[in-house]
Formats: sequence, C-alpha cells, structure tokens
Amino acid sequence: MSTTYLVKGVSVLGADPTDLLVRDGVVAEAGASARGAQVVDGAGLVALPGLVDLHTHLREPGREDAETVETGSRAAALGGYTAVCAMANTSPVADTAGVVEQVWRLGREAGLVDVQPIGAVTVGLAGQHLAELGAMADSAAKVRIFSDDGHCVSDPRLMRRALEYVKAFDGVIAQHAEEPRLTEGAQMHEGEVSARLGLTGWPAVAEEAIIARDALLAGHVGARLHVCHVSTAGSVDVIRAAKAAGVRVTAEVTPHHLLLTDERATSYDPVFKVNPPLRTQTDVTALRQALAEGLIDIVATDHAPHAVEDKECEWAYARPGMLGLETALSIVLDVLGPDWELIAQRMSRTPARIAGLAEHGHTPAAGAPATFTLVDPAARWEVDPTGSASRSRNTPYAGMTLPGRIVATFLRGEPTVLDGKAVK
Ligand SMILES: [Zn+2]
Repeated sequence: MSTTYLVKGVSVLGADPTDLLVRDGVVAEAGASARGAQVVDGAGLVALPGLVDLHTHLREPGREDAETVETGSRAAALGGYTAVCAMANTSPVADTAGVVEQVWRLGREAGLVDVQPIGAVTVGLAGQHLAELGAMADSAAKVRIFSDDGHCVSDPRLMRRALEYVKAFDGVIAQHAEEPRLTEGAQMHEGEVSARLGLTGWPAVAEEAIIARDALLAGHVGARLHVCHVSTAGSVDVIRAAKAAGVRVTAEVTPHHLLLTDERATSYDPVFKVNPPLRTQTDVTALRQALAEGLIDIVATDHAPHAVEDKECEWAYARPGMLGLETALSIVLDVLGPDWELIAQRMSRTPARIAGLAEHGHTPAAGAPATFTLVDPAARWEVDPTGSASRSRNTPYAGMTLPGRIVATFLRGEPTVLDGKAVK
C-alpha cells in the first residue's frame, strides 16, 4: 500500500490555505480520513500543477557524460517538473521506434518524472528523408511531437510532408526555426554588440523567415506547428499574424531569452553561448509581453547540458546551450512576478495539452491526479553550479540570487522531492 500524505495549510494557486490529502495517486475528497498520513507542512507554500517541459535535452543515449535520463529527471523533479519531453538529438538519433522506446523505458525506470520522447522528423536529423514517424507514433512511447531540434527542417517540401503525415494522428511538428543559409558561421546575435566584438552574427530574420514560411505551410496543410524557443520581437509579430489567420500554431520561449541579452557575450564566457542566441533588450521586452498575453503559449527550458570540455573552451569552439530545469520557475517568477494562474497555464496546463499528456496539468483538488509541486515563494537562493542534480555545470545563473524554491514534488501521489531534496 502506498503512503498517504497530508499537505497541511497550503495555498493552491495563491488561494486561501487548505489541506491536501494525497492517497492512491489522487487528491482525496474533503473530509476523508487522514489517519496514518505523513504530514507535509504546507504553511507559506503554493501548490501548482506539476510543471511540464516541452523541450529538454537528456543526452542519453550517447552523451551520458553530459546527462542521463536519470540525472536529467532528477534535475527536473527538483525544478518542480513532473513531465519532460526529451529531444531527439541523441546518439543514435531518436528517429526509430527502437530508440524512442529505449528513452521512454529509461524514464520509467528512473521514475522521477514522466519522460515523453520526441521523435526526429528526418533520418539522423540530416534533413534529407522523413524518419519513420508512424512507427514512432505506434510504439510504446506513443510519440506525438516530432522535431529535428538543434537543426531546422529547412527544406520546405520535407516540412510540408511532415506536417501532412502527423496531421493524421493529431501530431505536431516542433520546429527549430533557423534558416541555415543565413546563419553560417554565426557566433551570436547579429547586431550592435556582434559588430563591436567582430563576431559573425545570427540575424533575427533567419528565425522570422522560417516561422513565417512554416505558419503558411501549417495553415495550408491544416496541421499543428509548434515553434521552439522564439527569441525575437519580429517572431512575435509573425506569430500574432498567424494566430489571427487561424493557423494552428503554438510557441515557446525559454527562461534565458526572457532574462538575458546579447550584452553577456562581451564577457566571452561560453556559458552564455546558446542557439538561438541571446538577443537585445527590445526582444526580451517583447517576449515577456507576448508570454503575458498568451501570444507565446508556454515557457520551455531548452535544458541543454554539456560536458566541461565542450563548454569551458574558447567561445568559437564551445557548444551552444544552457542548463534550465532547476532554475526555470525561479526565472519566470523573477520576470513575471507571482501570478500563479498564469504560471500554471504557461508552464503546466498548456504544455501538457500540446504534448497530449492527459495525466498532467491538473490543479491539485479533490479527485485530480496528485501530480503537483510545492513552491516557497518567499525563499531566495543563490545558484551554485556544483549543487546541481544535472551531470553538467553550464548554468548561466551561477552566483545569482533567485526567488522561489521548490520544496516538494509529487508524481501520482508519490513524492519525488521532499524538503527540497530528491527522494531517490
Ligand atoms: Zn533548438
């Protein structure tokens, strides 16, 4: 029999304090007996539906020195997540039923979050031939999101065929929007700072042009498009127009694009190298506004662990990418403030809906799955890379003091985090 938990005096989404009795994987009805329950002190804490990340790199199989499904899952649980979607750019690439089932099984074995594999759109992410999308959808992993993330599906004919294919089972193509011919040799955002540093720039239009093209293709096909890591003000305008035209498009923004700008590149510290690159303050302001309005639907981390030798080297040779799972909620709290309803929408309910994860995104209340997280909004903490549960250390927030601390996370009634520590 599983342990019963009584979370006492917790505020659900900022409402007046209440008790949550967790039994048999669900939140029990009011008035149910709490006899024998293990008490969790919820005073001063806010309960949120477990967070759902649509964009996580877990690096297994292939780069277990940077992250494994287990270590990434633990970092996710400590960040308040109960489900993550694992990107396909592993080695081998997750472009077959066999690989997505392997990742899915590793996630179940770790048992810390639900790991939902994303399948590659093209074989080997090479952009030449469609991968076996149907076999991945029919596999035990039940893949519904497909992405070549790290690479753009730049061939418009392949993109159209992928959209047509996934429409049959209401799948979605998640696009890393980057016109490769416009970003050859790019090291950072193309603008005043790149000109000053003499580094080759990644122009905003390389992202905006692909989003515009894909929105037109998705509208033409009538299929679902999801735009990964939107980073420019111009992209927001394109998405606004596409949504107004009735295109089935959703979009994500990362915590780092909501907070950091291309000025960070002046340090030449490769921890700030990321793809798409950090943009300008004008972009940051537009992204925050679009997230608040819902033009950008969700926050996704693009958690991208890298081994030390791939990151602590010269800027030009460093791999792009940053950690994000353990800091995402704190960054969002910092930039949006404690608007719990908005946070639940952008970090749990909507990503769960896009990914088709029916067990996630539910506000903890009687009868709902006990899949939630408890955050202490008054706590402030200093980010220490050595304290991360990730196997990598490439956080851009080292030394920063952030608001909000995850105290506990429950997945189907079982704690994965208690007292701020991973249970296993
Ligand atoms: Zn990407």
